[in-house]
Amino acid sequence: MPTELLFREDAYMRNAGARVVHADERGIVLDRTIFYPMGGGQQGDAGVLVRTDGQRIVIADTRKGAEADSVLHVCAPDAPRLDIGESVALELDWDRRYALMRLHTALHVMSCVVVAPVTGGNIAPEKARLDFDIDMSLLDAERIERETNAIIARGIATETVWISDEELDARPELVKTMSVQPPRGAGRVRLLRIAEVDLQPCGGTHVRNIAEIGAIRVLKIRSEGKRNRRVEIGLVG
Ligand SMILES: [Zn+2]
Repeated sequence: MPTELLFREDAYMRNAGARVVHADERGIVLDRTIFYPMGGGQQGDAGVLVRTDGQRIVIADTRKGAEADSVLHVCAPDAPRLDIGESVALELDWDRRYALMRLHTALHVMSCVVVAPVTGGNIAPEKARLDFDIDMSLLDAERIERETNAIIARGIATETVWISDEELDARPELVKTMSVQPPRGAGRVRLLRIAEVDLQPCGGTHVRNIAEIGAIRVLKIRSEGKRNRRVEIGLVG
């Protein structure tokens, strides 16, 4: 049974109610969730499930389940087993998620400053990176930082748009990330649009306006192989 993905419509939901659909030693499946499962380079969410008697089950990680759109909430092996059908209150570790949203959106902006095919990426709460297929001499930390922050300062709203698989096929230039092809088969693909800056397929969580990123710092630039020139960034404040 697919999980209703509440974060997909509203990435700012910190609390929600849900029912337990399945629970075993691997984790808990709910009928709906605000927890983002690891994917597209973005780490899975953490938080707490609260039972009606107040007992708190710590969720250390969130992963995709075996079925499409099913989400597995990963708890400690010795956590109490939940009952099928039981109601729980979800509490997201918001500080952690908000950092992920700011850094994730920052990568969208940076991918328009460094114009090259993206060969990899990762988003953690304290830092994020993109790998590019580009000559090292073209990566200047000071320039990347300055130009990325200049775009962020324009304070542009982000927007989720959906297009059909056929429309995406007709516009292959939208797909910058060579290592992660957008999910197919559902008939439609989710895109993130930052007007006049970026438009690309993405299933992750983003801030509503790029001004919320604040500013970024380039932490490191190094070569991880000929086609993987890695640019790592962090948030300033
Ligand atoms: Zn994204």
